[in-house]
Formats: sequence, structure tokens, C-alpha cells
Amino acid sequence: MPEYTLNCFLCGKINDEHVTSTYCTSCGGVLTVNYQSVRTEIQYPLKSTPKDPLRSGMTELRYLAKLSARYDIEIWAKMELQNPSGCFKDRGSHIEVLKALELNREAICLASTGNMAASVAMYARYYEIPCYVFVPENTSEGKLAQANMFDATVLRIKGDFTNCEQLCKEFAKSGNYYLAGDYVYREEGQKSVSYEIIEQQNEEFDYVLIPVGCGTNFGAIHKGFKEAAAAGLIERIPRLVCVQPEKSSPVVEGIAKRTKIVKDSVMTMATAVAAADPIDFHKVLHGVDDTLGHASIATENSILESLREMAVTEGIFTEPACALPLSAIKHDIDLYRNKRCLLLLTGTGLKDTTVVTRSVLPSPILPNDVAQVLEYLDSGYPALQSESFGKPRDTVLTQIKFSDDRRRLYEDYLSRIGKKGKSLTVREREVLQTLVFNDDATLKLPVVVTDYRVIMQKNGLVASTVTAILNEQECETEHEGVGPLDSVLGAMTKLTSASFPVTLVNHHLEILGPGTNALVVASITLTHEGLEVEAKAASPDVIEAGLNAWVKAFSILYKKFS
Ligand SMILES: *Cc1c(COP(=O)(O)O)cnc(C)c1O
Ligand SMILES: [Zn+2]
Repeated sequence: MPEYTLNCFLCGKINDEHVTSTYCTSCGGVLTVNYQSVRTEIQYPLKSTPKDPLRSGMTELRYLAKLSARYDIEIWAKMELQNPSGCFKDRGSHIEVLKALELNREAICLASTGNMAASVAMYARYYEIPCYVFVPENTSEGKLAQANMFDATVLRIKGDFTNCEQLCKEFAKSGNYYLAGDYVYREEGQKSVSYEIIEQQNEEFDYVLIPVGCGTNFGAIHKGFKEAAAAGLIERIPRLVCVQPEKSSPVVEGIAKRTKIVKDSVMTMATAVAAADPIDFHKVLHGVDDTLGHASIATENSILESLREMAVTEGIFTEPACALPLSAIKHDIDLYRNKRCLLLLTGTGLKDTTVVTRSVLPSPILPNDVAQVLEYLDSGYPALQSESFGKPRDTVLTQIKFSDDRRRLYEDYLSRIGKKGKSLTVREREVLQTLVFNDDATLKLPVVVTDYRVIMQKNGLVASTVTAILNEQECETEHEGVGPLDSVLGAMTKLTSASFPVTLVNHHLEILGPGTNALVVASITLTHEGLEVEAKAASPDVIEAGLNAWVKAFSILYKKFS
């Protein structure tokens, strides 16, 4: 077992790991592991050298030929997204879980907003130690799917991440629990990436660019290179570059001011690095100083742009946080020109797809018909999806080229909605376009509703009168139903029963937003002689949406039988 002490990074005091593995008991500073001897193989603060049962090898060190040629910079990627849970945090989680077992703790607990929860839950489950994850109330279920899958006890707490962290610390004291997180043993696990890089590289890197949140990973990478250099494995340590989103950059700001900055809250699309209180700030400051590195920021726009650039140029789909290194390079091309640069790609894109969904025009659902698929391709919509990535949607939507028939349908929709004094939101406009792409633009309507009235009855039922032109004749029916929509749809069924009987099998309403003025999409399913069709229509008026969808479904059935 390697001899080591747990030293405070700030005051130097030696702490006892049975008392704390988070903060110094004397000054509250972060801790660091000091090994008594220098060795050429990586050292861990554990009784025996661990082998990770969930991985069979190293993550790839990949040369990015196309980006290198584009920028005249030798660009490589350390593919940390290939870790078992899809994120580099596995390196640290494995060691933390082994430490918890070594200290005979009965369970592990941590506060997290996503990746760390997934990663710790995975190893905890594998080693069969219970795991409690504290997450803020607004954490999306998607982010928690992995933690749920790995059977962690997920505790959703009122408030934000800081509330969870505090609560989890208190919870940890209530039993024999191991408090996991951005602490000293995680750093010991995560430093292994530096040893891998050293083993894989054929020449030393000039720069390693690291997306930074709490700074734990940056500190770990620096420590890994330092220990390897001390053991003579490398001659020089690459310059380390700390990159943060402009909108969440307490570390970068703190490096400039040479003091730790804590924000009230931070907000960025790169959620994995959104840390208002960067625990390991002092380690990042030291790492930047020690390696003559840099600290830089990237705007939200450049994050999105670099994210897409890595995907379309090199076929790598990462989390938004991993776009920070490429953004930093593009921001300072002259600094990096002809240098060997390594981008640390910390997590996979499939962990956080919301950014992509928000940035791209959604694909409308098309009819199951090749002619209409071809017509859609001609409309210019797919090209627009690609060109407009990340741009405001309302400006691009107007450019869609509908066929004349379809444009008429669309304009008809717009004018009917406009008459009701409503302006459409972007999402409503998109939904309308999906409807228009789906409608049969040449559909003839054998029945046209010209008027309707609904009257609440004393018995709680609703009576309605619908006037319509059916086969060029005006007719009128009355019907009583349990609600206004039920009542008018019943009247329609009655009205057409003599000439072409249909049965209403299902109706469904989707309201596209808050407020009484929101667009309503009605879906109506009708059958005639066993054939079932569904049609949709939209209007700010529920009854009108329902009636229009009914008429459409009726017309489609009618066409099929005539
Ligand atoms: C946690 C995380 C980071 C930030 O690491 P820190 O150690 O908090 O600086 C970066 N990228 C991804 C994908 C992460 O999950
Ligand atoms: Zn201290």
C-alpha cells in the first residue's frame, strides 16, 4: 500500500481520512494527496491497485485531421466521452467507491445535477454499495435516467444545487456514509487520464485545453502530469488551458483577479460546467501558473457553433461543455498556430440532447407517401434546418417554399387565426407547418360547416346546432352532448349519417401553451366500414379545431370510398 498523507492545499495541515476526505478541518481548504515515494506507475490512495471492471482499455487519443488542416493547428482529441457512463467522471467515481468500501462505509451519498450521479450510481451498484443521489427539483428525468437505471436512491430536493449540496453534507453526518463529490479522492482517480495521454502520445503536447466547472478535473490532470514528470515519464508538462462559458466563468474571472470568486447563480447551455462555487479554484489557478497556461472564455454562440463543427467535420457528437476547447482555439488561432493541441472531450452528446433540439427546426411528421416526401424535400425545409442551426426560428420559417396548394392551406390557416386576433408563437407556427405538410392539399371537402351554436342546458348537458353544406345542400342538425365539443361532433355524425355514416372513435386535444389564446390542435379518429383514419386541425378555438379535424377525417374516408 502506498504511503500518503492528506494535506490541505491551502494551509498544509495534514488531515485524517477517517475524519474528512472533503475539506480541511482547520481552514476549510481543499485537500490533496501527497505520496511519500515517487514511482513510475500511477499511485492510488488505496490498499491495493484497482482494476476497473467496467472498462477494458483506454479512451482513444484521436487525431482530428480535418480540423487540423482547417486551422493550421495540430488538433487531437482525448475521447473521454468513451468512458463507461459516457463521461470522464467514471475515473474518479471508481476510486471514490473503492475508498468508501475500504473505509467500511455503509452507503455513498452525493449531490449532483447529472453526470456525476450517473457515474457514481453505476460503480456503486456494481460494487453493491447503496447510493443516495440528491438532485435539485428541476432536474429533468432524462438526466436522471442513468442514475435510476443503476438503482440509486434518487432524492429530488426543493431548491437548487447548492441546497442539495448542503443537505447531502448534513445527511452524510447522520450515518456511516461516504460523501462523494468533487473532492480529493475523485482527483486521484481522474488523474489517470494524464498517464493515458503520456502512454498514447507519440510526441508531447504543447497545450491541453480543458472545460472547467468546479476545476476538479483540471486539478487532477495537472497533478497527473506533475507526478509523471517527477517520475521522469515526461520532460515537460503541456500548458494547461482552462476554458469556461462566458456566462459561467467564476474560475476565469478569479484567475484574472487572483482570488476565488463565487457567483449567486450561473446559467449556460453547457450545463456540465455550470458551477457557481468552483470548489477547486485554487488548484486551477496553481495549474495555470505552474504550466504557463491560460484561462479563456467562450460565448454561448461560439459553444453552439463549435459543437456543431466537431459533429459535422469530425463525426464527434459531444455535450455542449466539450465544445469549449475548440471555441478557445478558434478564439486565439494565432496563439495556437502550428502547435500540438489536445482537446479534452469530457462527455457524450447523447447525455444532453435538449440543446440540439432547441437549436434545430423540428422535422415535421410526413404522410406515408413517397410523392409527398419528395414534395417536402423540394420545399427547402430540410436545407433550412441545416442552415438555420442555432439561429432564431421565426426569421427562417418564412423562407419555406410550399407548393401552391400547400401555401394556400397555410395562408388559409394564418388568415383564419389572424381573424381571431391571435399572433402565433414560434412553436405554434412549427406545428401549423407540420399540419400543412401532412394535409392532402387536393382534398375535396364534401361537407362544409357554415355555422354552429352551443347552448348550455339546465341538465348540465350542452345542446348544439350545426349548419353545414352537404352534397351542395344546406342542412341543420341538433344534438345534445356532455360538453361543447362532444355535442358538435355528435351533431356532425348525425348530419352525415344518412349519406355516409361514420363513427367517432377518438378525439384528443393538445393545447400549445398557456393562456386562453393558445393554439389548439385537435385530432379526430373516424371509421367507416372498418377503415379508420385520423386527421388533425388547429385553431385558437377548441370547437373550431375539433370541427375542422372532423371534416378532414370525414373527407379522407369519403374520398377512399368514392
Ligand atoms: C463535470 C464535467 C465537467 C467539469 O469538470 P469539473 O471537474 O467540474 O471542472 C466538464 N465536462 C463534463 C461533460 C462534465 O460532466
Ligand atoms: Zn487547511
